[in-house]
Amino acid sequence: MRISAVLGFLFLGLQALAQNTQVDYESIYKIKDEGFNNSQVMDIAWNLTDRIGPRLTGSEGLKKAYDWTSQMYKDWGLTNVKVEAWGDFGPGWEVDKNYLAMTVPYYQAMIAIPKAWTPGTGKEITAEVVYVEVNTEEDLAKYKGNLKGKVVLMPTTINAENGYEADARRYTEEELEGLTKVTVRGGGGGGNFSASRMSEFRRASNLRRAAYTMLKEEGVAMILNTSRGGGQGTFFTSNGSRNDDSALPEMEMAPEHYNRMVRLLQKGEKVMVEAETKTRFLKNDTKGYNVLGEIQGSDAKLKNEVVMLGAHLDSWFAGTGATDNAAGSAVMMEAMRILKESGVKLRRTVRIALWSGEEQGIFGSRNYAQNTFMTDKKPNAAHQNFSAYYNMDNGTGAIRGIYLQGNEATKGLFEEWFKPFHDIGASTITVNNTGGTDHLAFDGIGLPGFQFIQDPIAYSTRTHHTNMDVFEALEEVDLKKNAVIIAALVMQTANMDAKMPRKPKEF
Ligand SMILES: [Zn+2]
Repeated sequence: MRISAVLGFLFLGLQALAQNTQVDYESIYKIKDEGFNNSQVMDIAWNLTDRIGPRLTGSEGLKKAYDWTSQMYKDWGLTNVKVEAWGDFGPGWEVDKNYLAMTVPYYQAMIAIPKAWTPGTGKEITAEVVYVEVNTEEDLAKYKGNLKGKVVLMPTTINAENGYEADARRYTEEELEGLTKVTVRGGGGGGNFSASRMSEFRRASNLRRAAYTMLKEEGVAMILNTSRGGGQGTFFTSNGSRNDDSALPEMEMAPEHYNRMVRLLQKGEKVMVEAETKTRFLKNDTKGYNVLGEIQGSDAKLKNEVVMLGAHLDSWFAGTGATDNAAGSAVMMEAMRILKESGVKLRRTVRIALWSGEEQGIFGSRNYAQNTFMTDKKPNAAHQNFSAYYNMDNGTGAIRGIYLQGNEATKGLFEEWFKPFHDIGASTITVNNTGGTDHLAFDGIGLPGFQFIQDPIAYSTRTHHTNMDVFEALEEVDLKKNAVIIAALVMQTANMDAKMPRKPKEF
């Protein structure tokens, strides 16, 4: 090859790089104008939370959310709008009545809610409360024959002490800097779960199972539980087995109320409760769905290629799933609305997905990714034509930067593309991973999937999976910023000459 040809080739390469990374300030201006001056993000979030309510996968609430979000897509002029089944989820579940009060030694309402996918009491019950103090399987024998019709409390280490730190906070500059540091571990990698912790874990879960079997055999009226919360009446919800028709009625409750009954019983006081819960298993349609919509790409050559953005629409049910994840759903919908309304050029097709079944195991996105991008466990043409996926599921907090999931080849792009957002606090690019949500569905099959660094606000202290995950927890300014940043990143990704660089992966 002649020298001039080599130089020419180099020059073209640099030019291509420049075109890929270049910030499109004209489009960014339009996106900021629409997103900051005509924002609908809080209205979308209000509809998902206050109006539609909790959106547990398979519930009537989530079905309403499928209908409303897909209608909004259509109103905004998106195409290929689909509420698409991803596979079988199993029965849905709804709470129709929820009541628990302590009646002896005095009357007081208790903060409690049925554990998901457990049956209700059906009718009002009045029952004595028993503290079943089991630390080994042998302890169970002490209670044999004494528990029929009783309400049972079990030992817990959860308490609700006064907190001396603010529940809500933002990242400091030092913390953001810390997130960019990569830790290289010694040893052969893998987990460092010690054998003794493993065996303790197994022992505890065997004990739980044995205790549950005994409580069922005894015919207890209901089990009460508490779980980690933020104190001051906040508690986390969870679910039992989703396919156990013989499960016992069970409620989860605020640690303060739970522990008060435990203390009374331990001091020899008599405790009685009154309760009535009604729950329903929904077995008519056991499929799970995702809500999809598109803006078609404008470039004849590139419109078969796709850039995606998404968030999970399903939630827990004790609150209204505001920060987890009406926030992410509303931001992604708003980003899509901004892209459409501002009329910015999009060379590739942009597709939004609102997932379900995330809280039970990232089912909606994983099944979608498998159904769409893989054929016989091998990447197909859609896999080839895919560029990148952006996800939001870290609560209501402002985007401060992005996790690259180890995809270092994208660093230069994001460093450039975040420049227009440095002055609203978003500038941290970290090669580190973040886990636990839907971008993993893409990452797992070799497709670039990203999730953002967001200010924590009160996500882990107060709102994530709790009874207090409600509209008040949402930060309007943060959600507006997030929709604008995500719309801009999606626009840049849709318009670059090449697809997003990928990590190497063997199939
Ligand atoms: Zn979530």
